[in-house]
Amino acid sequence: MSEPLLNVTGLSKSFSAVQAVRGVDLAIPKGSTFGLVGESGSGKSTTARLVLRLIEPTSGEIRFRGRDLSKLGAAALRAERRHMQMIFQDPFGSLNPRMSVRETLVEPQLVHGVGTPDERVRTAARLLDEVSLPQAALDRFPHEFSGGQRQRIAIARALATNPELIVADEPVSALDVSVQAQVLNLMRDLQDRHNTTMLFISHDLRVVRFMCDEIAVMYLGEIVEQGPSARVYGAPAHPYTKALLDSVPGKGQEKRARLSGEIPSAHAIPSGCAFRTRCPLAFDRCTREAPAMHETGGGQRAACHLLEERAA
Ligand code: SF4
Repeated sequence: MSEPLLNVTGLSKSFSAVQAVRGVDLAIPKGSTFGLVGESGSGKSTTARLVLRLIEPTSGEIRFRGRDLSKLGAAALRAERRHMQMIFQDPFGSLNPRMSVRETLVEPQLVHGVGTPDERVRTAARLLDEVSLPQAALDRFPHEFSGGQRQRIAIARALATNPELIVADEPVSALDVSVQAQVLNLMRDLQDRHNTTMLFISHDLRVVRFMCDEIAVMYLGEIVEQGPSARVYGAPAHPYTKALLDSVPGKGQEKRARLSGEIPSAHAIPSGCAFRTRCPLAFDRCTREAPAMHETGGGQRAACHLLEERAA
């Protein structure tokens, strides 16, 4: 099998005493969409920024297109950025209010030396078509658009350099519910059409299920469950994933583990299993020992002592 487009191993990030990301491994095949899901404070957005080296990892390897990004110097990293773009949560803060849409879409091409001046303008016009905005929008400014339209412009900008990887961090959670589905459908269509690989971050398991081939669930900086999205969503193996699903409306009435309390501070990660302070199934061993990842079949795995005890 060929090497995944993005292959992250042992990725960690500490901010003074805070361990925000702890030993994350991710392998994302070319052309697939990989979802990272978890509550606010789980470390998923920090992981996204580490992957693009927008912040520096404390340790770990980030192989992208066969090269270790964590070892690249500034110039080589800048060149590599053409192939990896980000879509942010807030379409109001992420677009420069002083730049017209045409300038917004031409700028990344200019920065990365893509095309001639004429080609860049033609690409800007084509991108607007792709995100279903009228050509008249080229001469307008961000404040003239709604949130959904701004996010379409941000998506067009992310595609402007024809990147191989797009990292989308909660790209619809700031939008009205009525436009979320439209923007998600657009992202899926574009991803199909361009065969772009996507790392998709969301707190909403339904959104991730809709978008992604594979899902990883994060809790306090670690991946606690990972697998094909149909399996993780249909038969979650970790009590935390079950609890997250329990909060999804319309997800069946059967009795599931309830998620109580707040996610603990990353300053004070519980001993043993980090989820034990909220886990309704916790037992003695969970306080003493951190659970290892355990295969549950079909490419699904989770870190919980109960899986090991059941298998034994
Ligand atoms: Fe719950 Fe223990 Fe499993 Fe952690 S290891 S999820 S505390 S049962």
